Amino acid sequence: MDNADDVRSLMNVELNTRWWGTVLHELGHIYYYKTYSTPEVPIILRGGANRAYHEAMGTLIGMASMQQPFLEGVGLMPKNTEVDETQALLKEALDYIVLIPWGAGVMTEFEHDLYSKNLPLDEFNKRWWELKKQYQGIVLPADRGEEYCDAASKTHINNDAA
Ligand SMILES: [Zn+2]
Repeated sequence: MDNADDVRSLMNVELNTRWWGTVLHELGHIYYYKTYSTPEVPIILRGGANRAYHEAMGTLIGMASMQQPFLEGVGLMPKNTEVDETQALLKEALDYIVLIPWGAGVMTEFEHDLYSKNLPLDEFNKRWWELKKQYQGIVLPADRGEEYCDAASKTHINNDAA
């Protein structure tokens, strides 16, 4: 808020484990931004050179937020709770594996088509859902016309263009 120490994240979340990781992921972004928010760096240059690295920092903090020593330290888990490590690792793997086709396929290819190939406005939604099917196997239950732009509902598309 003050380009210094007043940091905030406006989020619509529920009080549960899933959103806890997301909250810490977003704080990871914020604290990474803070590392280069110094008077020597002009405000316009206070963004990461590569957003993949920024996501990695957010993901690192999000993953750390689920570690038992951290949870015990902040009082969210009783000390010496017995945790099934296999289940915890499987959950963590599934959280990230499903993002790979989206992050490395749907999103990047849509932006490539949008910016490098000048994707026509009347093909935005069609192309978005072609990529969703190709990379994620996700199809719409019914057609959605070009009066919608479902890609624009993603913050990584509307707020963090490549
Ligand atoms: Zn992120």
